Parts: sequence; structure tokens; C-alpha cells
Amino acid sequence: MPDPVDVDLALLGGGGAASLVLAALDRHGVRNLRVAVVDPVHRRGQDRTWAFWGLPGDDLEPLLSARWPRVEVVTLAARRTLDLAPLRYAMLRSGPVYRRAAEAEGRLGAIRVHAAVDDVRDDGHRVLVRAADGSTVRADWVLDSRPRPPARAGRTTWLQHFRGWWLTADTATFDPARAVLMDFRTPQPARGVSFGYLLPVTDRYALVEYTEFSPDLLTGGGYDAALAGYRDLLGLDPSRLTVREVENGVIPMTDAPFPTRPSPRVVRLGTAGGATRPSTGFTFSAMYRQADQVARALAAGRPPLPEPAYPRRHRWMDAVALRALDRGSVDGPGFFDGLFARNPAQRVLRFLDGATTPAEELAVMRSTPLLPMVAATAGDAAHRLRDRLRPARPAPPVPPAVRAGTPPRP
Ligand SMILES: Cc1cc2nc3c(=O)[nH]c(=O)nc-3n(C[C@H](O)[C@H](O)[C@H](O)COP(=O)(O)OP(=O)(O)OC[C@H]3O[C@@H](n4cnc5c(N)ncnc54)[C@H](O)[C@@H]3O)c2cc1C
Repeated sequence: MPDPVDVDLALLGGGGAASLVLAALDRHGVRNLRVAVVDPVHRRGQDRTWAFWGLPGDDLEPLLSARWPRVEVVTLAARRTLDLAPLRYAMLRSGPVYRRAAEAEGRLGAIRVHAAVDDVRDDGHRVLVRAADGSTVRADWVLDSRPRPPARAGRTTWLQHFRGWWLTADTATFDPARAVLMDFRTPQPARGVSFGYLLPVTDRYALVEYTEFSPDLLTGGGYDAALAGYRDLLGLDPSRLTVREVENGVIPMTDAPFPTRPSPRVVRLGTAGGATRPSTGFTFSAMYRQADQVARALAAGRPPLPEPAYPRRHRWMDAVALRALDRGSVDGPGFFDGLFARNPAQRVLRFLDGATTPAEELAVMRSTPLLPMVAATAGDAAHRLRDRLRPARPAPPVPPAVRAGTPPRP
């Protein structure tokens, strides 16, 4: 076996979380740090679109495809326009993020290993990483964002799964000032919640997406039918539209634990590190926050240990909400619409970022249906107790996204 390459920091997985770490290291002027990135795929170009909210003016601003100071939440009963100021909703395509990461990688002089990680051994002082091509890297610290299931099965295991169409229109069709965050007029699944959304970039170019929060995937034909139904609901004429790109995805929505530090010198980031908010699937803002914390720490010569993606009490509230939705004791569209109807939009968005005070959280909780939530809280407590008394069940892996025409895995 060849001698290991010695580095200060190894990034296992070079996707969203790792790209944001590389960009943050560069932004904080970190140099003279020996960095290796190990991933069989060198991410480039467009493989996903991130939508998220935040304050304008950070280093992502020039990379954004679009931003909206207001968004709409639509139900069968009402159309609400939410003024997000001082926040704004933003769209960031993966291409510019991966490009920025590649530039950062170049300036840092990072080493790339184009192979899957096979083995990780942490002796408490250094971590030895073996890749499938036989190469080895020895690192002081490892940031591991390889996708993996949680440590054990959760009490509720849902998926956020979706298909989006990037549409071009042959005439002015979309209003770039009007973005739809969630439109619950889509037919609702027997178990779960569905919604469509529309993110217009120009008057002729927009992303239209159909999303479900539910336990199981649809077939390729199922997503296409649901998306066509939503397009029709929006009154868009298919004969004037061309589908330029199709975007598919599956994101875990579960109260199962994602260990953040499996061994002394290995830190998990991204979805594998619990950055995905269980009740919404939003991940990007937490990944960005943690990347910034990691880079600041390294710039100051400290260990790259980020704060938890979300406070513990938020994870508990999400577990209760997921349970209530899954057991059908609250109506999904009513639940999400109620949050926005009874709170300032900013409070809900800061809540979803895990940034609210307990008093604000009480206000958010008061806007959800009381009795079903109390019942879900009791059910969650009982389930936790049962879980303590019986052996842990393994978590099912997150299934791959269904591509056009392929049936979901059974
Ligand atoms: C299509 C799509 C759209 C999304 N949109 C949003 C959104 O709008 N807003 C939001 O907040 N979140 C969104 N998400 C969720 C989340 O932000 C993304 O999934 C994000 O990319 C997660 O980053 P990550 O680094 O955890 O995982 P990934 O970006 O998936 O990166 C994981 C990396 O690990 C590599 N890898 C796998 N196995 C190995 C191995 N054995 N060894 C080494 N490397 C390995 C992979 O090649 C990959 O590059 C979306 C997800 C998808 C799939």
C-alpha cells in the first residue's frame, strides 16, 4: 500500500456541504491548510436548485439566479402574500456553487481523490481514510458528508420527494415578482402532504415543481401526471411551453438521529450530519451556517466543530409535528397554512432555521391545532419510552430519486 498523503483536513464527499466548506475556507482567507477532497464524482454544473431564505448581502448574492422579497402560500381557501422583509427567498443553482468551490479548491491547493471512500479509521489523533482506488489519506480532521441513513429507525420516516420542470415559454408568461412557496391546491395523498410551487426567473423562464411529504415515492409517470396537473392548475398552456430540464430529488424527513460526531476527529455535515430540517426538508441554510462556523474555527486554529444544525427542542417539535401529520391527526395544508396565517412570516422562517426564542416558539406552537398536537406529544413520549426498552431497528436507506419513466423501488 502506498504511503498515506498527510493533510490537515479531509472532506469525504464533495457535494453541497463540502462545496460550501471549501467556499467558506476561501472566504475566511484560510491558506496553508492541507486539504483533500475524496469523492468518486467531481460535482459540476446543474444537478440541483437550492431555494432558501436569508438576509441579502452575503457572498452568495452574486451567484443567485433569482430573489423574491415576497412569496405566496396558496390553499383552496386563500392566497396569502408573505412579505419576508428584511429576509428574502432566493434561488441558487448548483453550477455556480460548484464553480466557486472549484476556484476555492484551486487557491487552497487541495488534493482530489476521485474514488469512493472505503474505510475510515480514527485513532483519536489522526484519521486514516482508504479509498476504493487504493489511495490513502491521513488527516487531522475529517468532515464527512457522504449520504448515509440515520443511526437507527426514527419514530416517523417520511420522505420529501419531488420532480420539477424548468420551463421556457414562447411568450411572456410568468410574473418574475410572484414566487409561489407552497400551493396546496394539488390533490392530497391519502397519507402525506402535497404541494406545487412556481419560481419564475424571468417572464419566460421558471421552475415548476410538484412535491410530496409522504412515506413512499411515486412512479415516474405519477410525478409527471402530478406535475402536469399542477401546471394546468396554474393555467399554463403546455403548447406554449418547453421542458428544458427535469429535476428529481428525495430528501429524508425523519426524527431519527443523525450522529454528528461518530468518532473524536470525524464530524458529519450536510444531510448525513442532520442539516435537513425534519419538518420541511430544507437543508441549505443549515449547511451554509455550519460551513461558516467550520471555516471560522479553522481560520482561528481551532477544531472544525460546528454548532448543531438545529437546537434539540426544535428537533423535538419537528418529531411531534411529523407524527401528527403522519398519523393523520392534523390536516397537512391546514397545518402549514396556519403557521403563516397566524404568525409574521419572518417568525416562521426564523423558527424553521432554529433561530427563534422560546417565547416565539410558544407563539408558533399556539398557531397549530391544540388537541391533535397534545395527542402527538403524548404519543411521541410513549414511543420514545418503547424505543428505550427494545433493541434499535436499523433505519431504511433513503431511496434514490425516481428518474423519468423508472418505477420506484418496492
Ligand atoms: C434535487 C435536489 C434539490 C434540493 N433542493 C433543496 C432546496 O431547494 N433547499 C434546501 O434547503 N435543500 C434542498 N435539497 C436538500 C439538500 O440541500 C441537498 O441534498 C444538498 O446537496 C445536501 O448536501 P450534502 O453534501 O449533504 O449531500 P450531497 O450534495 O448529495 O453530496 C454528497 C456527496 O457524497 C459523495 N459520495 C457518495 N458516496 C461516497 C463515498 N463512498 N465516498 C466519497 N464520496 C461519496 C457524492 O458523490 C456526493 O458528491 C435538495 C436536494 C436535492 C437532491
